Amino acid sequence: MCNEIYNFEAWINIVEPFPGESISHFLGRFERANLLTGYQIGKEAGVGAIVTRWKKLYLNPFPTQQELEALANFVEVATEKLKEMLPVKGMTMKPRPIKLCAACYAEQPYHRIEWQYKDKLKCDRHNLRLLTKCTNCQTPFPIPADWVEGKCSHCSLRFATMAKRQKPR
Ligand SMILES: [Zn+2]
Ligand SMILES: [Zn+2]
Repeated sequence: MCNEIYNFEAWINIVEPFPGESISHFLGRFERANLLTGYQIGKEAGVGAIVTRWKKLYLNPFPTQQELEALANFVEVATEKLKEMLPVKGMTMKPRPIKLCAACYAEQPYHRIEWQYKDKLKCDRHNLRLLTKCTNCQTPFPIPADWVEGKCSHCSLRFATMAKRQKPR
């Protein structure tokens, strides 16, 4: 009899969340690190296609504790860490347009969930207006899950470079 135990979960490449990272950006990194689609992640985690909605920052209905625990278990990140990728209670979030503080991005290249707060129009750290489209060609930013190289999908201007055109407030 073969007693070998295959632990499939051990094959997951763990992706460490960044402080304030949005769930969309995290899921994109996890997908690429593990060569999985959002659909596959949802299936493996047992929560279904809802993961593909979270990737687009469509968080209505809001993720339940049960769903977050199931996803946390699969991606091997604490449930509390996943909750930090979602808007805090009482904050209204707008999934579109995708917003960016290019100055923040130049320091740490990832999308922050707080940029999507409805009333969030500027970055408090840099005192600069958040961008909603490319400063060169005006193309809206893609969903953060697709921010692989950190540049405009149309004209290839780097997000970090856009900081020069961010207006003070
Ligand atoms: Zn900033
Ligand atoms: Zn552009």
